[in-house]
Amino acid sequence: MSYVCRFCAAPLEQVVVDLGAAPLANSYLEPEALLEPEAHHPLCTFLCTGCLLVQLPAMASAEAIFSDYAYFSSYSSSWLEHARRYTEAQRRRFGLDEGSLVVEVASNDGYLLQYFRDAGVPVLGIEPASNVARVAEQAGIPTINRFLGAEVGAAVVAGELDPSCDSRGDAGHFDSSAAPLLGRAADLVVANNVFAHVPDLRDFTAGLRALLAPGGVLTIEAPHLMRLLDEVQFDTIYHEHFSYYSLLAAQRVLAAHGLVVFDVEEVPTHGGSLRIFCRRDDAPEAETAERLATRPAVDELLRRERRYGLDDPATYRHFAPRVAAVKRQLLSFLIEQADAGRTVVGYGAPAKGNTLLNYCGVRPDLLPFTVDLSPHKQGRFLPGSRIPIRAPEAIAETRPDFVLILPWNLRAEIAEQMSAVRSWGGRFVVAVPRLTVLD
Ligand SMILES: [Zn+2]
Repeated sequence: MSYVCRFCAAPLEQVVVDLGAAPLANSYLEPEALLEPEAHHPLCTFLCTGCLLVQLPAMASAEAIFSDYAYFSSYSSSWLEHARRYTEAQRRRFGLDEGSLVVEVASNDGYLLQYFRDAGVPVLGIEPASNVARVAEQAGIPTINRFLGAEVGAAVVAGELDPSCDSRGDAGHFDSSAAPLLGRAADLVVANNVFAHVPDLRDFTAGLRALLAPGGVLTIEAPHLMRLLDEVQFDTIYHEHFSYYSLLAAQRVLAAHGLVVFDVEEVPTHGGSLRIFCRRDDAPEAETAERLATRPAVDELLRRERRYGLDDPATYRHFAPRVAAVKRQLLSFLIEQADAGRTVVGYGAPAKGNTLLNYCGVRPDLLPFTVDLSPHKQGRFLPGSRIPIRAPEAIAETRPDFVLILPWNLRAEIAEQMSAVRSWGGRFVVAVPRLTVLD
């Protein structure tokens, strides 16, 4: 059997990297679950040579992934700061005020929309995880508990959303604070860190288009494929992450749904992401001449992507051997330390850590535990590897020789926070893009 591209429906024939089979990266285990088997799903990424979209075929149902999502954005201070700066910049650039409407898709617990609300800009969140949507509502962020698609997008703008059930007939909810915000299109649609995570890309993109006012702006943030390939960030591949974008591929997907990319920025989140600015292809001429005029950054980045070879399928064949090298380096390091009687423990329990540890076959014999700041994760176990997650204090109590930082994108912040490790001669290590002991 062969898979087909979720955008252009061409058969997927070129493997970018095959990471074997693994459990869903965010399905942390309760202690009693250790007695049960765990479902493993293939984790093999493909390049569509027709449209250049790198993707994981949808294998696990979207409901299983998103219906009770454990990730609450508000726990990371650097993430909040990123969101705050984003809202300030867009509010100024696009003149958003009390007469505007900002709609965020996959709005989580409202961590980003709160900054618009605090500045007096009306906001509406659309969040598929019902437990997370309720947290947002309780924090005073009007939120609709739905998956976005063409139908939901159109119903929001038409003010015809049925509050009792969603488009699939499932229970979904929104509280009375959301009702007055229905029936109008958005001046800004925020789709940060969701575009990579939607299984039905076409329906979702149509939903984004449906939400947008004629002169409105859509911003999308997604990890940049060029950085993933260049810096061997293979651990950012996991089941919840269906699509991996170059601007070349994203521009094509958006254009097919009546959306024009008019600006792009490179932002540091998730190891290097693109912030893509879009307008409707029928935006008023006066707007496209000024506020929504196409910026040189778009052509400049497309040129760089072509120079890197992202328009040539052969380029993608260089990736898998570099990934295999990371595995050999990490295992060699861990085995060498174990043979010498030295201890290595983990820091962090991010999704990317699960991809790394499961692909490399690391188990508690080589990494006896990891620690995490989130109380939701402490006391649970990493899926697949079944490595226990403890509170950060466990590091000071056990004084390991090495701390393997799993969220390598936060390595400076973590090494700083945990600087006490150096007091007993402990050192920090990262595995990606190559095994490195930090100075
Ligand atoms: Zn395709």
